[in-house]
Formats: sequence, C-alpha cells, structure tokens
Amino acid sequence: MTNPRVLARSRWPGLYLQACRSTGAVMLSTRLREQLREIVGAEGLIEPYEARKVYECDGYTLERAVPELVVLPASTVEMCAVLRLLHRAGVSFVPRGAGTGLSGGCLPLEAPVMIGTSRMRRILEVDSVNRRIVVEAGVANLDVTRAAAPFGLHYAPDPSSQAACSIGGNIAENSGGPHTLKYGVTTNHVLGLELVLPDGQAVWLGGWVDDVPGYDLRGFVVGSEGTCGVVTRAILRLVRNPESWHTALAVFPSVAAATKAVSAIIAVGIVPAALEMMDRLIVQAVEQAYHFGFPGDAGAVLIVELDGHPATVQAEAKAVRQLCLDAGASEIRTAATDQERAELWKSRKRAFGAVGRLAPSYCTQDGVVPRTRLPEILQRITDVAERYRLRIGNVFHAGDGNIHPILLFDERNPDEVQRVLAAGREILAACVELGGSITGEHGVGVEKIDQMPLLFTPQDLIVMQALRRAFDPLERCNPGKIFPRPGGCVEVVRPRRQVPV
Ligand SMILES: Cc1cc2nc3c(=O)[nH]c(=O)nc-3n(C[C@H](O)[C@H](O)[C@H](O)COP(=O)(O)OP(=O)(O)OC[C@H]3O[C@@H](n4cnc5c(N)ncnc54)[C@H](O)[C@@H]3O)c2cc1C
Repeated sequence: MTNPRVLARSRWPGLYLQACRSTGAVMLSTRLREQLREIVGAEGLIEPYEARKVYECDGYTLERAVPELVVLPASTVEMCAVLRLLHRAGVSFVPRGAGTGLSGGCLPLEAPVMIGTSRMRRILEVDSVNRRIVVEAGVANLDVTRAAAPFGLHYAPDPSSQAACSIGGNIAENSGGPHTLKYGVTTNHVLGLELVLPDGQAVWLGGWVDDVPGYDLRGFVVGSEGTCGVVTRAILRLVRNPESWHTALAVFPSVAAATKAVSAIIAVGIVPAALEMMDRLIVQAVEQAYHFGFPGDAGAVLIVELDGHPATVQAEAKAVRQLCLDAGASEIRTAATDQERAELWKSRKRAFGAVGRLAPSYCTQDGVVPRTRLPEILQRITDVAERYRLRIGNVFHAGDGNIHPILLFDERNPDEVQRVLAAGREILAACVELGGSITGEHGVGVEKIDQMPLLFTPQDLIVMQALRRAFDPLERCNPGKIFPRPGGCVEVVRPRRQVPV
C-alpha cells in the first residue's frame, strides 16, 4: 500500500509541493530572519534554496524535505539566543549534526528551521589523568579519539561513520559501533551534557563524576533523538588504549556456519572487542570493488578483534582460531602489524562504498535479534528479498545480534521504492517476532514511527511523550519523530511479552 508520508516528501518536484503543504511549513518573517542574522552573523545563516537543499535528508534518502532556513550558532550563548527567539515566535526547529543518521531523524518535518552544530567543533579540555574530555556537540567522533591519542587514550564508541558523525548526533541516537560489544554504547561514555532547552535555557545534566544523585536526566536525553533540546557540549569518558590486540578475518561457507562460530566464541566466555560479519552479497561486492582475494564461493566473512593483556589475547586468539575452524571456516587471516590490521578492517569499512556500485540507491535497515537467532532472521530476510523481488545484502555487528540489511533499489522506480519500504517493515516485524527490536542503533526517526506499536502499548507511548514534554512542553523541538500520531499507526499492538519471574 502507498505510504502517503513518503509520497508527500519525495524528491519528485510535483510531489514536493505536497510536502510543503503536508509538513505545515510556515513562512518565516523577514524580521525574524534579521534577528537571527544579528545573533549568528551572515555566515551562520543559510538561505538560498540550492544551499538549503543540501539539508533535505540524512543517510535515509527515501524521504526528503528542504528546511526553510538553516541556522548555525557558533556557541552555547548564540544557541540560547536563537532558541529563545524561536520560542517567542512559536517556531519549531530540528537539530542537526553531520546528517549521517539513517532513520530520517533530522528531516525538517513540521519544523521550518534547522539548527546545525557544524560551527561548534571545539575540543574544550582533555583531562588525561581523570580520562575525561569536554567537547562541543559538533565535534566529529573520530576527532575526539585524535585529541586523546597523544595520551594513549581513545573514545570507545566508534560508529562506522565516525570520521563524519558528530558527538551531538551520537548522543541523540545513543550510537554504537563495531566495538560496542565489549565497550558499550554512547550512553556508557557520556558523563554529562549541556542541553539548550526549546525555550532557550541552557542546563547541565549529569556531570564530571560517574554517579550524580537524583533522576538520571542525562540518561533520558541520550537516545532521545533530538526531541528534548539541542545538546551543545558534553563531558565524555576516555578509555586507555589496549596493551595488545589481535585481529582475525575468517571466511565461512555460509552465514549459519559463521554464526555458529560467533555463538561458540561467546559461549566459552570470550568477549571480543568486535565481532563483525558480512554475507555473501556484500563479500562479493567488496571483492569486486577492492580485490581482497576472498574465494568466489565465500558465504560469509567474520572479523574478530580481541584486545587486552598480551598473554590473555594470545590464549584467546588460539581458542578463537580453533572455534572458527570447528564451525567450518575455510580460511583465517590474521594481522601482525597496525597496517595489516587496517587491511583486514578495510573490507568491512568499505562495505557501504562497495554496495554503492551494485545499485543506484540503497536503504540500510537496522534491527536487533538475540544473537542465537541470527540464522533465522537472515533466512527471513532471504525470503523477504525473494517475495519482494529485491537484492538484500547484510553487514552486521554479529556479537550484538544487530543486523543491517542493505536493500538495493533504484529510486527512480516508484514501484521498487514501495517494495523496499514494505520489505523493510516486514524485516523489522520479524526481528520483534524473534524477540528483538526495531532498532539497534540508528533510532526511530521518521522511518520506524509506524512500527513503534509493535514494541510498545499506547500507554507506554503516552508515558514517554509525557516525559518528553517535561523538556519540550509544546513539542517544538524535532516534531513528528519517534511517536506515531493518533490514527497514523498501521500496525496492530502486540501483546506485551511476559517477563519470567
Ligand atoms: C556509512 C554509515 C555508517 C554508520 N555506522 C553506524 C554505526 O556503526 N553505528 C551507529 O550507531 N550508527 C551508524 N550510522 C548512523 C549515524 O552515523 C549515527 O546515527 C550518528 O550518530 C548520527 O550523527 P550525526 O551527527 O550525523 O547526526 P544527524 O544525522 O545530523 O542527526 C541524527 C539525530 O540526532 C539529532 N541531533 C543531532 N545533533 C544534535 C544535537 N546537538 N542535539 C540534539 N539532537 C541532535 C537530530 O535531530 C537527529 O534526530 C552510520 C551511518 C552511515 C552513513
């Protein structure tokens, strides 16, 4: 069935006109524009249509909407002044970091103004003794690690987009990455954050130390997808670089065999720093693009990274090798130097680039299942691909059961676009059925709104929205995200799962 939201915000010009109507865009007054310019200067305001068009979507390109105005404050003081002004004028806004999100989180829906953090990129303090770093929200994830590197430290959450994505975006999405399995996600590494509320007040939540009395409001904001205000600064935890590491890449005949190795590794009590898998289609794509020498019949490639004390790493590496061979690995490559390690990771890190060669467009889905159910979900994805006549490859954080099916399509083919949307919905519903969730790390954004009722009852959603309104009573900050509107849901609410006692 046609999804009216998608048509309304599609990229085709005729349909885009509908978008303006359906998103309730308001004309911003000349006076308001002048006042904003007084606060952020001419360089902090993006007005020409061609320049604003760059901001029409994030990495989820199936839905688009051009903001009426992009404002780029350069400091917390400017951010407060901008939001105060918008508050007085009753204008809604959407925060944006680097725009690498994959669920349409920063799509300017019902919000004419986009607030970007790209001019807030200062590293404010590195406290190597206490292993803390204070940064502005627009700092790229990788730059945090670069700033910490001279002290033998790094910032552990490492989304594959880390060279571009911002700390503010990471906080909003509670981002993970290949090393999440051992080190945890963003919320485990953000100690405090400065948030500018939608009325223009700046508040600090959390702090310099691990535990702050009272409700964990910092924890609430992490993962709230930009619906509570704009994060402007953060105090992050730094982690000591491991004493040693061992990286291995194993080639398997099938995903089922590789998954058997994953379960066996975890079962013997080894917690690798990373456990990443690619399936046949992706392996073929990276092979065609970069010639890593993978066998033509490879069904899956698994990257296992171990780190820690050299003696422990050595013993674990031996065990991992045997477990991979027992599960049917036909080839195992290991890295002895930093350069070789980077080579092994290259196939995984370049997977998305390689996929770009297979089709004009692709949509990266994000779901989670219990690790042991990976073979089942992958079979379900294969079935979905056949039924919807689509090619779907899989790259995933196998250790966490966090799947990323990549649906290939041509966005000029409306029928194929509709099939991609329907197939994506079916895959996520299957994740829930297998005991998982509709998102592991990319958030709900606009993409998965209609599937929230698969996981939550109406009462759950009402409570969440009441909490959000404590920060944003008028819901002016990133409206139209996360929560389905009454009458907008297409899914049947699933009975709550009984928690065993
Ligand atoms: C190739 C590729 C690989 C990726 N790999 C991973 C991965 O391994 N793990 C993972 O978790 N994600 C991954 N992502 C998704 C994405 O990079 C993350 O969600 C990232 O955290 C988004 O950061 P951003 O700065 O681009 O945010 P944006 O896309 O700009 O925004 C994302 C959301 O955050 C909100 N937001 C942004 N800045 C702020 C702020 N300062 N205050 C309040 N709200 C804000 C926006 O409103 C929006 O809702 C990947 C994306 C790509 C394209």
